[in-house]
Amino acid sequence: MEHFDPSDLWNRCLQEAENRLDKTEFEAWLKNSTYEDSNGTRLVIRFSNSFVAGHVKSRFGNMLDDIIHNLSGRSELALQFIGDPAEPGPSSSERLSPVAPSSQDSTFLRSNYTFEHFVVGPSNQLAHAGALAVSREIGSTNYNPLFIYGGVGLGKTHLIQAIAHQLRQEGSKRTFRYISTELLVETFIKCVLQNDYTLFRKLFHGIDYLLMDDIQFLKGKVETQEAFFHRFNELHQHGKQIVLTSDRPPHELQDLPERLISRFQSGLVADIKPPEYETRLAILQLLVKDEELVVSEDVLDFIASSIRKNVRQLSGVIHRLSAMSRLTGCRVDMSLAQKEIRSSLGTITRRLTAGNIASTVAESFDVSPSQLKGKQRKRSILIPRQVSMSLIRELTSMSLTEIGSFFSGRDHSTVLNSIDRIRELKDKDPELERKIEEIKRKLVSI
Ligand code: ADP
Ligand code: MG
Repeated sequence: MEHFDPSDLWNRCLQEAENRLDKTEFEAWLKNSTYEDSNGTRLVIRFSNSFVAGHVKSRFGNMLDDIIHNLSGRSELALQFIGDPAEPGPSSSERLSPVAPSSQDSTFLRSNYTFEHFVVGPSNQLAHAGALAVSREIGSTNYNPLFIYGGVGLGKTHLIQAIAHQLRQEGSKRTFRYISTELLVETFIKCVLQNDYTLFRKLFHGIDYLLMDDIQFLKGKVETQEAFFHRFNELHQHGKQIVLTSDRPPHELQDLPERLISRFQSGLVADIKPPEYETRLAILQLLVKDEELVVSEDVLDFIASSIRKNVRQLSGVIHRLSAMSRLTGCRVDMSLAQKEIRSSLGTITRRLTAGNIASTVAESFDVSPSQLKGKQRKRSILIPRQVSMSLIRELTSMSLTEIGSFFSGRDHSTVLNSIDRIRELKDKDPELERKIEEIKRKLVSI
């Protein structure tokens, strides 16, 4: 392994962090850090006090890990942030308060979420083409906004960040803001509390591209929706490019006002579906190349055939196999891959018990598991009870009678009726269908 100087490595890491972050943010939190010690795999970094060290860890830890791994080419390197205890009492919080607001304004990009690292296939072709087109030249397409939607772990964040990387590559000519909708909402709430909207406005000020991830989180945030609607129009009218991602198509963002939804539909709406076998295989090939892992074709074929719904799971399996082979020095062969997949699937099987399914459903409908088993026939309890029954039927091998007795001795025809009822309701109510899918995903994801 290549020799490296840890102190120099940290300095280069700071340079890269400076590129990625807002100037005030960088100066407030990172600038005065120093390399202190290393034991080969761990770099100890000192900050002015423990408060700063803790904040850096929670806010920038992932980004710094990412940078260090990239610069060193060693994914086993870990960072430890230390600092002496901060001064207690009001003076320290007063001193820190002026820098706090700027910490909302970070641009956090994963270094490998680029177009080069994105495998294109029939499942994501349109979304990819749209993303590439808008990142080439502003105003050259009428894909405005570009609205990308699809299920969990299918590459939405990857694509929207790829646009940001593309814009960054070409210097500072085109400015952009990449922001998660959660952070946008958070910023808006802070502004409301302080009755000062400067920060919120700053998010949209002077940018050519607005890249907003996970727009579905605007659900229920009526005031943020309103404020965002105005900013959206302003940017749009000035010919600025807007890119949005969501876990569902615009017309299913039910809680959002109609005028916002029709704005979202006015450009290019592109979906991402779960990848086909060939795409899954190509993604696996890219992943093993990145990890410099030697894996035979039939092992890749086995993994691509076993995991179908979610790209994040594919990369999870490769990362774990890679870590295992590094730790134990053994080759990644069929039996190791089988063991890994089996243990992933085994985790799922253990999760799929009637009790577990019922409590997951209960949680997601905001009722208690005992209410599900109880006698109340209020709709707010009846529906989750029926959903539980139908999921237990679908995901376990329990018989109708067994399911009935799990629900305090109901008989098998009640269970059967419930399952039919949910099937009908799902057809009529896409929101319910989505909710059930989400619960299922939670239960079966590796
Ligand atoms: P989403 O935002 O849709 O939930 P992400 O963009 O976070 O999903 O993707 C999950 C993981 O899968 C990421 O590590 C991403 O790099 C990877 N990924 C998804 N689609 C592709 C693809 N087509 N090619 C390469 N990697 C992909
Ligand atoms: Mg995402």
